Amino acid sequence: MDGPGSSGKSSVGAEAAARTGLRFCDTGLFYRAVAYAAGQRAIAETDAAGLVALVDAIRVEADDRGRYAVVTLDGRDVTAEVQTPAVDEAVSGYARVPELRAALLARQREIAGRGAVVMAGRDIGTVVLPDADLKIYLDASVEERARRRAEERGIGPEDDAAGEILAQLRERDAVDASRPVAPLRRADDAIVIHTDGLAFEATVGRVVAAIESVGGDAAPATTPADRAPDAPSAVAPSSPAAPASLGARPSPPRRPPIAQTPIATRITWIIRIASFVMRLVTRLFTRVVIEGDLASFPRTGAVLVAANHASNADPVLTGGFLNTRLGRPMNWMGKREVFDWPIISWLARHGGVHPVDRGAADVDAFRTAMRILDEGHILAVFPEGTRSPDGRLQPAKDGVAVLAARSNAWIVPIGIADSDRLWPRGKRMPRRIPRVTVRIGTPFRMQDALREEGSAEEGAPSTASRRRTTAAGTDLIMRRIAELLPERQRGVYGEPRSD
Ligand code: C5P
Repeated sequence: MDGPGSSGKSSVGAEAAARTGLRFCDTGLFYRAVAYAAGQRAIAETDAAGLVALVDAIRVEADDRGRYAVVTLDGRDVTAEVQTPAVDEAVSGYARVPELRAALLARQREIAGRGAVVMAGRDIGTVVLPDADLKIYLDASVEERARRRAEERGIGPEDDAAGEILAQLRERDAVDASRPVAPLRRADDAIVIHTDGLAFEATVGRVVAAIESVGGDAAPATTPADRAPDAPSAVAPSSPAAPASLGARPSPPRRPPIAQTPIATRITWIIRIASFVMRLVTRLFTRVVIEGDLASFPRTGAVLVAANHASNADPVLTGGFLNTRLGRPMNWMGKREVFDWPIISWLARHGGVHPVDRGAADVDAFRTAMRILDEGHILAVFPEGTRSPDGRLQPAKDGVAVLAARSNAWIVPIGIADSDRLWPRGKRMPRRIPRVTVRIGTPFRMQDALREEGSAEEGAPSTASRRRTTAAGTDLIMRRIAELLPERQRGVYGEPRSD
């Protein structure tokens, strides 16, 4: 499956693969990983040997659904890092280098050689797998692709950044199509699907139908092991024991993908009205007192808001009460079930709630979270993951510290006192209580705070030291939240530290 940038190859390809029981590999990830690593290590486009040497450090690994989605560099997960605008900008320059392409060619064929796969890129049908059973060229006008990418990144059409995306896609198309080696080109025997005006679901349907149509024919006498190692098939049975028809292979039960929410970047009238209504309803039950260091809350740039979680009321008490005061909206990660309800779903989409598929790998959620921070917006998280059963802080997950370490965002701790009494876990409705307090802490950066405490580790980070930093960071963030809570709610972070 080939096509220009943002033509939908990876989203359509991954979904079509999942529905037909095939693996999916987006080869752009290899080039992105090289561009990211080269940027980190200051390796120039002219240094072909230096670029080829990077290839060994890069791995693109399959998740449990057979989707090659996790990118590591020297064992470090860089899945989020390879999707930044900086990599978008640099990648085509590196992808021109013939020596690098040759080194990556072997890696891509190796993946295809392991069995049936849908593989997306620029030169899959022409160079990587010229004998593929099926070739699809996914196309769309550059304006449509720019619009989609902007929407994905939560950028409005009027925004300057939307113009930059369009210009950058044009530039990337031009470089990809004009390079002498393996340029972006439709294979002569490829089926072309134009996706302007075609909904995602319809595009997936066409690709699935095309895969199924070759399924019967693709019952070759050869197995992957019999094929010439340099020309494996893009759509081949995954093992000699695979059934004859690809179309007949059972697809794993899976919910259809859910559209991404645009990043909330400013207070829209919908957020303003929804926050107002939330405050009004809350006032029927209690008085909300906002205390603490609201004045220091960063007015621009990436912020991780980290709060304790003891009640369904917590997002309302933070988002509903703080968004308009701050003049900046919070983004949230929310379970995808929220999006099953028509009105709630509409509000969530317009209010910066990003769906997380809790049954699936967390890679997409992590990537979205990183994107929100990389693009300089607010992400609100509950580090404990789930609501506390008794209002006291429970041991937190490390996700927030990993996000903090990767993004170096400001962290603003928030202690929500007594929300467990307002709306206890397990109760259908809130109760009336005199007040709840939302206490805002002073912003800090995790690495700086660890250094001040003497918990930071110097020298080149190893996997073990990184793990220790994450654990120390989680503990630090939670202690800062605990300081903002009444004693009865401090739970495991209330006791004095043993060290
Ligand atoms: O598809 P994606 O936008 O992630 O690809 C990033 C870049 O990697 C492309 O613009 C192109 O320069 C390069 N690429 C390539 N050949 C492929 C896949 C990607 O040259 N098969």
